[in-house]
Amino acid sequence: MEPYAFFRGEYMPLKDAKIGILTQALHYGTATFGGVRANWDEESQQFCLFRIKDHYRRQLNACKILNISLPWDEQQMADITVETVRRSGYRQNVYCRPLAYKASEAIGVKLHDLEDDFCIFAVPFGRYIEKEEGARVAVSSWRRIDDNAAPARCKITGVYINSALSKTEVMERGFDEAIVLTHDGHVSEGSAENIFIVRDGELITPAASENILEGITRKTIMELAKAELGLETVERQIDRSELYISDEVFFCGTGVQVAAVVEIDGRPVGDGKIGPIVEKIRNLYFDVAKGKVKKYKQWCTPVY
Ligand code: PMP
Repeated sequence: MEPYAFFRGEYMPLKDAKIGILTQALHYGTATFGGVRANWDEESQQFCLFRIKDHYRRQLNACKILNISLPWDEQQMADITVETVRRSGYRQNVYCRPLAYKASEAIGVKLHDLEDDFCIFAVPFGRYIEKEEGARVAVSSWRRIDDNAAPARCKITGVYINSALSKTEVMERGFDEAIVLTHDGHVSEGSAENIFIVRDGELITPAASENILEGITRKTIMELAKAELGLETVERQIDRSELYISDEVFFCGTGVQVAAVVEIDGRPVGDGKIGPIVEKIRNLYFDVAKGKVKKYKQWCTPVY
């Protein structure tokens, strides 16, 4: 079993896919990445590449914002991903990382008149946060980047310095993850995941205008909560102090999947244990993302 990559239009072992140190994207963060999980189901001996076309739709939108033009549509990008995982021969949970980037070897900060390229690789992947059943988190002192400075709605590599600063700040203080506020002090999201709170049985999440990444897991949870639990999600501003008095809080994202938050800034969330709504959403999401629920099988792309 050898990790494979798709690079410069060809499949090759990951170890052979290298870029030069002059590559424009390396210096200026002019690239957009994705993250797609290929969940392995031991029972059916099959992968579920979860909502892969939604991931590529979002990435192609990001390319539009970054002036990156690629010769593929979302279906072709999905096919390339399947082939990359297949060639690697994996039979375990895998994370696929597509990257569309300014590939010219040139000095100069700009987006125009540069070559674009797209690569993808797949690597084995486990948990993103160690304590998914009960994360202890803190509000970061770093604020979320504003859409008018650099769009958070695209996974632009350069923008992730914002996530890295907040994550490291709180981890070095002993917490598992960071919550980041917008410039006007409302809750935006985690360093690499969206956030939901539960108050009096109501599911609430910051709206797209709060400088969040428009998460595919977020969308999935909203759809599942409505269809399976009869819970509508309210998209609205959330104050910092509301976090402290929520009954339940959870993060969601491709990496983290669904992780319960049990403590924020030293205060227990609810009774300090994973709550009933998070527990239900978590179980439901895990089954759906593995391709175990027939009704949602259309979200899964097989590999073998
Ligand atoms: N917010 C940020 C900043 C992220 O990096 C991610 C991970 N992609 C998410 C939210 C969750 O998005 P998704 O559910 O599409 O993975």
